[in-house]
Amino acid sequence: MGHAYTYSCEHCGFQENFNQGHGFLVHSQSVAEYLKQRTKIFHYKTHNLLLRLSDKNDELFLKAGFQIYKCPKCRTLYDKVEVSVFNEKKVVHKSEFRCKDCKSRLKLTNIHRLKKAICPKCHHRTFHRDYTQHELWD
Ligand SMILES: [Zn+2]
Ligand SMILES: [Zn+2]
Repeated sequence: MGHAYTYSCEHCGFQENFNQGHGFLVHSQSVAEYLKQRTKIFHYKTHNLLLRLSDKNDELFLKAGFQIYKCPKCRTLYDKVEVSVFNEKKVVHKSEFRCKDCKSRLKLTNIHRLKKAICPKCHHRTFHRDYTQHELWD
């Protein structure tokens, strides 16, 4: 299950939806099981990475879901599919993303605490969560 959050800009009226949650993506499962499936839901690079990791390690697990990230410099928001690969002891891989404008590493953000962000269109700090629109998806 996931959530879709709508943000709107008070200044220019721009609206954008951000997804967070697992939904149709992957709940915790074994990497070996995932690789046996016929459907490839990830980008080919992620898929190749999973193949490489599972070559070197046994007993790896995987989970993936939409997360909301923020650029620490531009303060713009992104939703991205975060993939984490872990074994019983530690996380062996976690997705990293960069801002398309300044190339800074994006930081995972808690949308429930985030009050304002920068509008990607007009760059005013008037990008607010729109509480009248909230959707659930599976
Ligand atoms: Zn705007
Ligand atoms: Zn940036």
